[in-house]
Amino acid sequence: MPTPARRRSRTAVALIAAAALTGTLSAARAAPDNHRHPGEPPRTPVATGYGGAVASVNPYATQAGLDVLKHGGNAVDAAVATAAALGVVEPYSSGIGGGGFFVYYDARTHKVSTIDGRETGPAAMTGSFFLDPATGQPLPFTDAVNSGLSVGVPGTLMTWTTALDKWGTIPLRKALQGGIGIAENGFVVSPLFSAVTQQNQQRFSQIAPTAQLFLPNGAPPPAGSVLKNPDLAATYKLIAKDGPGVFYHGVLGQEVAATAQHPPTIANPTMNFRPGVLQASDIAKYTAPVQAPTHVDYKGLDVYSIAPPSSGGTTVGEALNILSDFDVSSADQVQALHHYEEASRIAFADRNRWVGDAAFSAVPTKGLTSAAYGKDRACLISPAGTLTSPVPPGDPSAPNGGTACPAAGPAGTEAAGTEGVSTTHLVTADKWGDVVSYTLTIEQTGGSAITVPHRGFLLNNEMTDFDFTPLHPGVPDPNLPDAGKRPRSSMSPTIVLKDGRPYLAVGSPGGATIITTVLQILVNRLDLGMSLPDAIAAPRASQRDRSVTDVEPAFLSLPQVPALEALGEKFVTVTPTFGPTPEIGAATGLEFLPNGQVQAAAEPVRRGVGSAMVVYPVR
Ligand code: GLU
Repeated sequence: MPTPARRRSRTAVALIAAAALTGTLSAARAAPDNHRHPGEPPRTPVATGYGGAVASVNPYATQAGLDVLKHGGNAVDAAVATAAALGVVEPYSSGIGGGGFFVYYDARTHKVSTIDGRETGPAAMTGSFFLDPATGQPLPFTDAVNSGLSVGVPGTLMTWTTALDKWGTIPLRKALQGGIGIAENGFVVSPLFSAVTQQNQQRFSQIAPTAQLFLPNGAPPPAGSVLKNPDLAATYKLIAKDGPGVFYHGVLGQEVAATAQHPPTIANPTMNFRPGVLQASDIAKYTAPVQAPTHVDYKGLDVYSIAPPSSGGTTVGEALNILSDFDVSSADQVQALHHYEEASRIAFADRNRWVGDAAFSAVPTKGLTSAAYGKDRACLISPAGTLTSPVPPGDPSAPNGGTACPAAGPAGTEAAGTEGVSTTHLVTADKWGDVVSYTLTIEQTGGSAITVPHRGFLLNNEMTDFDFTPLHPGVPDPNLPDAGKRPRSSMSPTIVLKDGRPYLAVGSPGGATIITTVLQILVNRLDLGMSLPDAIAAPRASQRDRSVTDVEPAFLSLPQVPALEALGEKFVTVTPTFGPTPEIGAATGLEFLPNGQVQAAAEPVRRGVGSAMVVYPVR
């Protein structure tokens, strides 16, 4: 039975779809503003003002970041504080048991840098890691997820430490304070949190510390109740006191490894949580390298995102390069959407073939993001019909700049698309003009379902982002498991500069749909003339080199759909995975407006409404 809040949300989706047709999105979006679950801080998805801003999926977390900005902290300090709070209030999507990718624009140097906080494979991992030794066949995906095998070395705490050490102004112990307060005092459970717990109830009930924490009294915490996490408060306090070494070289790391090796199931579990192979020595070796972002020039704008092991930067970048060749504008919305989907289809064919951890195979990042290769691949697009997926991957090593459409190679294989749809994205900016765009995850909603006993956080299942078997028979797969290797990600935290100054920051969760969500928001904003809040609110479609294009229900109401179907598009509504509503992504973003204002934007409906705040609403 939908709750009244959920009913309102559905109405709002319909309003947005209708408004998209009439150009009155802003008015439609006003309806769910200041949405509030009883007892929770208000959820305001758009805020415009001065002095810095934060947007995340959760008002407690956004407030934690804003508090840091108000006390003189910078965007990096605020990002870590927001992330630490998300570890408490969004524990199924983030936390110190997981990893992520951090993008930072430094207002002093005008440089964009990134931190790769991706999880790594244990030393005992081999290419056949996810094959059943008894049969030689890949393990069923959910068996791999719900096991110690799926747990990689967590990178999130190292990401926070690295970011603060390099660019922050406050120590880690201060950045953790907001999260500690929320974990101690508790947060009001939203209807969505309760519903998502219920979706995971069966597997959560198998792991004693997970059941204890997230199924109090044997059931999901009801909406409106207050959930505390004193174990996580104590863990954060231990880290605040002893520093991150207590995790990477101390007792927390030892406990993480022991928990992955011996998942703490209840007596007589009905599910088989296979033991993992993670060692404390794997955790001790972990690094979160600072690395160069990907860069493409899209119609005079500089678009920066994450290089491999994420496929986010190369795939969004390649699709933008392909689109550079076309006049994608609101004048012909059928062709605009057609080109958006075809560019994404082609870029995914290349992503599936070429992108993995660049420390393990030569990933042609430069070629994939080159304008010349974009032109080569743009050759494939016909305004008269869709390509057939799987599209043969191209060869980015020697692009000819579209002077002759290169001959197609052998067809690829349709990727299964098994990445989780959890994860969370946050953006921050400060009064000095620094900007952070940060996506973090524990992979599936609820990760491996394994909570570290007495520590209050879930362990990731990021290792299931590896391909269990080669994707293209007979073709090397850059994303097979290996010791110390980082599985390919789709996370695409992005910062766009205009004339060398911040213009947009955006990102989203959603597994492989992250890439299409970020791309669609950029196209909506940069080409179709929508404001950033409208670009985020608009109904989503996700084409990932598959025979069908996933869409949200509201997308099917767009007037362009029959014409797109006539071109060969086959749309299917996504299955709900995070809560009861079929949704793609949960974006947050920032736009730096010409008058010196910053606009922070979160979802007006998806994920139970996000939260945007600015330091000063008026100057
Ligand atoms: N593990 C996924 C990735 O790295 C993210 C999962 C999600 O967004 O839910 O791309």
